Amino acid sequence: MTNEKIPYKIYLEEKEIPKQWYNVRADMKNKPAPLLNPGTLKPMTFEELRGVFCDELVRQELNDTDAWIDIPEEIQQFYKMYRPAPLIRAYCLEEKLKTPAKIYYKFEGNNTSGSHKLNSAIAQAYYAKQQGLKGVTTETGAGQWGTALSMACSYFDLDCRVYMVKVSYEQKPFRREVMRTYGAQVTPSPSDTTEVGRKILQEHPGTSGSLGCAISEAVEAATTREGYRYVLGSVLNQVLLHQSVIGLETKAALDKYGVVPDIIIGCAGGGSNLGGLISPFMGEVLRGEKQYRFIAVEPASCPSFTRGKFAYDFCDTGMVCPLAKMYTLGSNFIPSANHAGGLRYHGMSSTLSQLYADGYMEARSVEQTAVFAAAEQFARVEGILPAPESSHAIRVAIDEALKCKETGEEKTIVFGLTGTGYFDMVAYEKFHNGEMNDYIPTDEDLQQGFDRIPQVF
Ligand SMILES: *Cc1c(COP(=O)(O)O)cnc(C)c1O
Repeated sequence: MTNEKIPYKIYLEEKEIPKQWYNVRADMKNKPAPLLNPGTLKPMTFEELRGVFCDELVRQELNDTDAWIDIPEEIQQFYKMYRPAPLIRAYCLEEKLKTPAKIYYKFEGNNTSGSHKLNSAIAQAYYAKQQGLKGVTTETGAGQWGTALSMACSYFDLDCRVYMVKVSYEQKPFRREVMRTYGAQVTPSPSDTTEVGRKILQEHPGTSGSLGCAISEAVEAATTREGYRYVLGSVLNQVLLHQSVIGLETKAALDKYGVVPDIIIGCAGGGSNLGGLISPFMGEVLRGEKQYRFIAVEPASCPSFTRGKFAYDFCDTGMVCPLAKMYTLGSNFIPSANHAGGLRYHGMSSTLSQLYADGYMEARSVEQTAVFAAAEQFARVEGILPAPESSHAIRVAIDEALKCKETGEEKTIVFGLTGTGYFDMVAYEKFHNGEMNDYIPTDEDLQQGFDRIPQVF
């Protein structure tokens, strides 16, 4: 197939939106390690987990045998409002870079929440409604997850309570107001509305909060209130499962034109978009059918894969959540101010962690100013203003394309463009004014986080 035949945008038809999610764990020989009860150190059972999460989501969380899970009709219906998402051939970027590489990106920013997170938010809200719950609680960092969840909850008429990391609550009033427009109740975290929040405030009076701390508060708010459950926008197996729509659509679009990627790149915060994007391709690798290179990109300021430990750790600062085996910087690690709020989590999906440990994936960390330089370069030729998180993937896609320019290789590169950056203009402003720095934690900084990782073998 020649280049000319591939359109700028490859749209699937509505009827080609996936009707099932793909569960990559079914094809993994080394399954991700189970969540452990922090008290007994035994794997969390369905009964234990259902106190925190919705029943059906717990079933999905624990299911590592079924490769395909039906997407309920109502969720398919909702997906039709903003999916299929286009797969775009970055002809203009290729030309600008003068690279022989062929670059494609899957754009997930085409909905009001501005990111891929809506794919899982709508699923989680649906199962909460099905179970007859009154509402859900959650945390949000930069605000994308909270926005996506408030949209999903308003669609199903569910109460939505969001604990928003305090620094974002103050710096991103617009995100906060979008959430309130969709009817969510937004509380800056840490707050004095929960026991764990009050404890954290007492220990760190001036803290501007962290995702780990907001998670602890949201979990407490759910488990102490009748008819509420906690939902999480990343990290968990169930979220990767829902996000597999990204990869399934990408694969279907590439297959239409007989395009086979060499390298698939995604940014990694908790791992959900990357996991979703690579899942169907990873499945082929795991089944011995194909070979691809997968690259996870993370901020140098929060380097879970590239400098973290693969160990059982708490998912939250308050240490109320189960233990997950993952690449972690320690649950008390609070990254330096970095503008990619969605990539500031101390841990990583246990599914991706296992795949990385088993050598199926590569990881790279990149510095903030280099990320914004890539964001700007991309925006100027491709016409989309990317989210800082997504721009991590852009950075490495450009780097790989420039390598092809040196070697003359015509590699096909696919990356996930997870969202738009309209709410991140303060970060862009800092970059333009030369006020952005590239703080990289020292080994001593990281050691403080490692020292708090529990000793579980
Ligand atoms: C949340 C977010 C991410 C990172 O989350 P993952 O779970 O790692 O995908 C990336 N990009 C955008 C736009 C986000 O909102």
